[in-house]
Amino acid sequence: MGENINVVEMFGCDVFNDSVMQARLPKKVYRELKQTIQEGKELSLEIADVVAHEMKEWAIERGATHFSHWFQPLTGVTAEKHDAFISAPMENGRVLMSFSGKELIKGEPDASSFPSGGLRATFEARGYTAWDCTSPAFVRHDAGGGTLCIPTAFCSYTGAALDMKTPLLRSMEAINTQALRLLRLFGNTTSKRVTPSVGAEQEYFLIDKEKWLQRKDLTYTGRTLFGAMPPKGQEMDDHYLGTIRQRVSAYMKEVNEECWRLGVAAKTQHNEVAPAQHELAPIYAPANIASDHNQIIMRILKKVASRHGMRCLLHEKPFAGVNGSGKHNNWSLTTDDGINLLDPGKTPHENIQFLLVLTCILKAVDTHADLLRESAADVGNDHRLGGNEAPPAVISVFLGEQLGDVLEQLISTGTATHSKKGGRLETGVKTLPDFMKDATDRNRTSPFAFTGNKFEFRMVGSRDSISSCNVVLNTITAEVFREVCDRLEGAEDFDLAVHNIIKEFATEHQRIVFNGNGYAPEWEKEAKRRGLPNLPSMVDAIPALTTEKAVKLFESFGVFTRAELESRAEIQYEIYAKAINIEAKTMIDIATKQIIPAVIRYTTVLADSINSVRAVGDYDVSVQTDLLKRTSALLKSTNSAMGKLARLVAQVPGVPEGRERAVFCREKVVKAMEALRSPVDELEMIVDKEMWPMPSYGDLIFEV
Ligand code: ADP
Ligand code: MG
Repeated sequence: MGENINVVEMFGCDVFNDSVMQARLPKKVYRELKQTIQEGKELSLEIADVVAHEMKEWAIERGATHFSHWFQPLTGVTAEKHDAFISAPMENGRVLMSFSGKELIKGEPDASSFPSGGLRATFEARGYTAWDCTSPAFVRHDAGGGTLCIPTAFCSYTGAALDMKTPLLRSMEAINTQALRLLRLFGNTTSKRVTPSVGAEQEYFLIDKEKWLQRKDLTYTGRTLFGAMPPKGQEMDDHYLGTIRQRVSAYMKEVNEECWRLGVAAKTQHNEVAPAQHELAPIYAPANIASDHNQIIMRILKKVASRHGMRCLLHEKPFAGVNGSGKHNNWSLTTDDGINLLDPGKTPHENIQFLLVLTCILKAVDTHADLLRESAADVGNDHRLGGNEAPPAVISVFLGEQLGDVLEQLISTGTATHSKKGGRLETGVKTLPDFMKDATDRNRTSPFAFTGNKFEFRMVGSRDSISSCNVVLNTITAEVFREVCDRLEGAEDFDLAVHNIIKEFATEHQRIVFNGNGYAPEWEKEAKRRGLPNLPSMVDAIPALTTEKAVKLFESFGVFTRAELESRAEIQYEIYAKAINIEAKTMIDIATKQIIPAVIRYTTVLADSINSVRAVGDYDVSVQTDLLKRTSALLKSTNSAMGKLARLVAQVPGVPEGRERAVFCREKVVKAMEALRSPVDELEMIVDKEMWPMPSYGDLIFEV
């Protein structure tokens, strides 16, 4: 307590980062490695050997005994296989600590235990992990000691991507190539690389571990499958804060310190809308690093919670009727020399370029709205998207009043002559609009909002990886940039050609812009009128992965092959059906073993009371009688709803795997689950609290 923390010293102390490499590697080796990191040059085994040796020495100093290739298979969580640094014992019985370049750059976990969605049927079970040297290695400390974690990509024997990172890296190449082309056309000769920058805000719930243990639904599925709303909802989140604050801020302090040690720039933390809900945001980083860091953050959030006698819930909707959790994926495009392509800029020349980039993104999002929606599809997110909160399931773009107005002028007259609210920024081209740099309004209901110098994609679920949405954002933007570059490279009058493209894109894709309230029911109707896709469930969204449009897009940039896309769709269906199946079985288990017995005990108490009261005289037992009637009726409904659900669950194995099974779960099983939940939640409101077999919502979220 009260010790001074030197954040500067602490930051990145467990990371094999640039300054460590510079200090420890021979100059020549350092230079070559940097070239690999910055320019994608191939790394020789000779260099890798030297790097591995230094990395090992450093890691051992940091307390590591093991190393691990750390990767992100399609299970949704990270995976790792640990190997000790020790070599085979020598004749004298002693061992050496060793780590070779080969071990650094390549690993060989058995791929057959990870989802491959059919890719395995055609390819070998063998899988490889390959070092992503652009994301630094780090030493993680936990109960198992220190482990040198090496961020890696995971591929099959033939190079098919079996993970989240490989396509992300491929999509970063695609956007780099096309964005550089665009910059060159605008006269930029200095920038060497364009990187998508990403800052992911992470929401989560904290609850007491003892109470969590008493809820089988939370322990098995991450969310409550039953639970009536407490009399006080999230509108009253003030009075309980006094008790929470100490416990939670002690928690946050440790979370921050663990993040900083691993070079994760945890910056912002605050309480969220719902009771027991919080948020953590790091400073933005290149997309692949941001994605790795988000995985690290989720792990730290969970680990530290455990240490504090709490549980961190990352599920998108742990409590029905209470705000769910998501991730806001802030995305922009930045050059190695510090230019943000989404910054409206200060000079006329930059403004034209900005307007072109902006309209390109409008076109990209409008053309591939279904893919962007799919990138946020997750079983838990079905309870958020399209619910009465968070962003709706319809993709639209929020530009704000001022930019929206500029766009409208462009469309209606071909020239924009003014910008709202004074202060103009001159574009220097008569036919192009002037506009203000400052974003006008803040809109919290839009799934894809322009926020001054970046876009904020708010659909991603709190548990989900941010890789998928960034793969989509990078690739769809690269596609439009490519089209524009093709056109501009052949143009005789560059300025006129740019102007025409801006106007064309703004006109043709205006329908994707929506500055109003995304939660309003009218928007759904309006979106339908505009022809925008509305994909309320994950099962509705998955087909977007394998349309001809998507295959063409991804294949043309080498981000995904058709087979990879098909396998991913297959895995998504599988994940959906499995998750629903587990939820349904958990519900049946809880209802059979906990709820029904408890309710029967309660009816016995009521019946006993009626009898005992009557026995002593002619007293009024109408309250007990009425309660007994209602309870018995609800008990009957519960039992019959449970029977129905059990019958459907029994049918699941007979339904063909893949889309068919997922649709069955979505249309039949989920409905039957809702039908079972309803009488149980009503019962919870009338049954004696002492007899209810698990902590209530009130106990869980108001008493952390
Ligand atoms: P708000 O969403 O309230 O505007 P911030 O502007 O602080 O909050 O940003 C939220 C997240 O966006 C943080 O992770 C931040 O680092 C990130 N961010 C800020 N600027 C950019 C940018 N140009 N590109 C990508 N992410 C950014
Ligand atoms: Mg934000």
